[in-house]
Amino acid sequence: MKNILIFITLCTITGCNIHRGSDIPWNNGTWVDLTLDFEESTTYWPTNVTFSHDTVSYGINDKGYFYSSFCYAAEEHGGTHFDAPLHFTENGRSIEQIVPEEFTGEGICVDVSEKALSDRDYLASVQDFRDWEQKHGTIPDRVIVLLRTGFGRFWGDPLKYTGTLKTGSAGVKELHFPGLDPEAAEWLVKERNIKAFGLDTPSIDRGQSTEFMTHRILFSHNITAYENIAHLELVPPRNFYVVAAPMKIKGGSGAPLRLLVWIPEE
Ligand SMILES: [Zn+2]
Repeated sequence: MKNILIFITLCTITGCNIHRGSDIPWNNGTWVDLTLDFEESTTYWPTNVTFSHDTVSYGINDKGYFYSSFCYAAEEHGGTHFDAPLHFTENGRSIEQIVPEEFTGEGICVDVSEKALSDRDYLASVQDFRDWEQKHGTIPDRVIVLLRTGFGRFWGDPLKYTGTLKTGSAGVKELHFPGLDPEAAEWLVKERNIKAFGLDTPSIDRGQSTEFMTHRILFSHNITAYENIAHLELVPPRNFYVVAAPMKIKGGSGAPLRLLVWIPEE
């Protein structure tokens, strides 16, 4: 009882809205892992240092038993990862300050792959979200929005996935992949009330963006983001539950992410 009272008091103070999950059928469904493996070939931004995973110890040690241990290093914004508001907002919140209520909850998946696969610079528009609503109903309040551009299928082929094999600023200029139109970002925040936004490309702003307005709009409204999501072809338009738990890097602007969805059986 005391715990419940503390919980209610905390929620009143912080204004949090914990989804208890009691209306989600947890006993009959499937967990789908939308996370790509972190490995040396993992795609990073052209100006980033790529992922490394080096052997510290491996084998039978002098006491006669097997032991292994490795050292990994990575920039925050590569592979399947989480963006905190601090990424584009001065004094914005960093990764460890994002509370679980913000990275768990009901999700929807909006598929623009037909348009994006025929135009590498495609921007998902307000109309795309309105079209989704025509079929599936109004975007629910405090939902996690996943955008499927179809570029997830190019993972492992960096030229197709990003548009370039060059590194450094020369590579940045040649990036061509779809993203979210800043106007649609504004609409999702102001006309709807989304909790987070993620997609299957290296950035929520398209490759040719130089101002990164979609990042700036979402983060200035405290909305978090996920990039380089895998397997969105396995996710239905709605009625699933998202767990997007980032590595808890204190002061981090982003972090590696283990992204899971629970899809209840119909
Ligand atoms: Zn990022």
